[in-house]
Amino acid sequence: MTDDAALIWFRRDLRVADQPTFLAAGQGTPALALFVLDPRLLGPAGDARLWFLYGCLRDLDESLGGRLLVVKGDPVEVVPRVAEQVGAGTVHVAADFGPYGQARDNDVEQALAKADRELVRTGSPYAVAPGRVLSGDGGRYRVFTPFSRAWADHGWRAPADTDAGYLDWIDPATVHVRSTKIPDQPAVDADLPEPGEAAAHRRWDEFVRDHLQEYADGRDRPDQPGTSRMSVYLKYGCVHPRSLLADIAAKRSNGAQSFRNELAWRDFYADVLDQRPDSARHNYDRAFDALATDSGPEADRLFDAWREGRTGYPVVDAGMRQLLAEGWMHNRVRMITASFLVKDLHLPWWWGARHFMGRLVDGDLASNQHGWQWVAGSGTDAAPYFRVFNPVLQGERFDPDGAYVRKYVPELADVPGKAAHQPWKLPGGVPAGYPDRVVDHKDERAVALDRYEAVKEAK
Ligand code: FAD
Repeated sequence: MTDDAALIWFRRDLRVADQPTFLAAGQGTPALALFVLDPRLLGPAGDARLWFLYGCLRDLDESLGGRLLVVKGDPVEVVPRVAEQVGAGTVHVAADFGPYGQARDNDVEQALAKADRELVRTGSPYAVAPGRVLSGDGGRYRVFTPFSRAWADHGWRAPADTDAGYLDWIDPATVHVRSTKIPDQPAVDADLPEPGEAAAHRRWDEFVRDHLQEYADGRDRPDQPGTSRMSVYLKYGCVHPRSLLADIAAKRSNGAQSFRNELAWRDFYADVLDQRPDSARHNYDRAFDALATDSGPEADRLFDAWREGRTGYPVVDAGMRQLLAEGWMHNRVRMITASFLVKDLHLPWWWGARHFMGRLVDGDLASNQHGWQWVAGSGTDAAPYFRVFNPVLQGERFDPDGAYVRKYVPELADVPGKAAHQPWKLPGGVPAGYPDRVVDHKDERAVALDRYEAVKEAK
């Protein structure tokens, strides 16, 4: 075997269309497709994400005619070994900008270089990769609005014209590497989206046809199917954001503008995490390290009530139960439930962020940790600290007929209209089986404001 072959190492780009790594390898090149089951990433993923990931791998394997090589182990050891065995002089990847992914790729690159092999990074999971959107003086942005303007001005490449036939796939059976089969999907007690590239495109087409036009307003209504549900497909790269942007490039409606803006948030948070990898685990604004938070048995009890969707505040409980039931939660309700954890229960945002990451099928370190910090007030571009979401008013405004609550909280299924948001006001009191409110929002809001004020004064 010569070293003329290429290794395509798939990670968060589980698709064959719009796949720039194929272009980089060169049309017709003999190539081996590899996915590494890395215990360091799979361990914390949670069953819902594993279920989805394994489904995507199966889909990719089918697209490649059953020629995806799957190996379990540390990529720093696996990738150079497979490259040697297949005679690949180059290993092609889409660049990873997460803290772990960057360090791993640098280590793999060094290990490959020892045998004169090269790691070639082409593209990334973002429309515009972190570090590319720069201000006039060449600096990085810390605030979303100017970032989003510069992001739109920067623009993105056209989708790559690729399919599975672009490369000449090597049958893994001819490579003497200990491979594993794609693991069975774990049993999950949740209704999850269909994995894979074709499913992503089907859902996208449906969204563009039925919901994009109204997206600017529709995106805030958890009781309606007005959002794209693309987050999970973007997470695993079943579709690239550049393909979505290209599809709607000619559309100038508010809906299309608003959708582009949301994809800019995704790129912004990836950029911020790239600038400040420590912000995955710590307050972006370290002044908030001084914010008083609760701990101990009572805090644990409240945390459990929140996780289980038993706080007595219907929209909060509906959101937390949607997360358990579907591995997904509507963005508006992510904000409401996060605000409730931080400002009504006074718990550290990272407790909630960890729970979300364990359950969300679209769980993404950059969007999740920074979504949480936006709510907690400790992030870039944070919501002003005095903005404390009122769960009743939020519910009445964004779920005006109570349909979202009734869907996820069966104890309230018989409560009509917006009364579902305040069951304690029903003539017969709170319906049987539904909990009383675990805290009083008005009181806890005052406590939160005092604590935030103390941080602000100390700044
Ligand atoms: P749409 O409304 O259709 O949006 C289109 C796409 O834009 C999304 O798929 C997503 O890629 C991007 N997007 C939309 N809103 C945001 C946002 N606020 N920040 C970053 N990107 C955005 N998103 C994740 O993908 N993974 C997470 O782990 C995650 N955790 C979050 C935690 C909190 C506390 C909050 C407030 C938000 C979080 N988000 C996260 C962002 C947002 O809630 C989801 O991207 C969105 O709900 C996904 O549904 P959708 O694809 O139907 O969204």
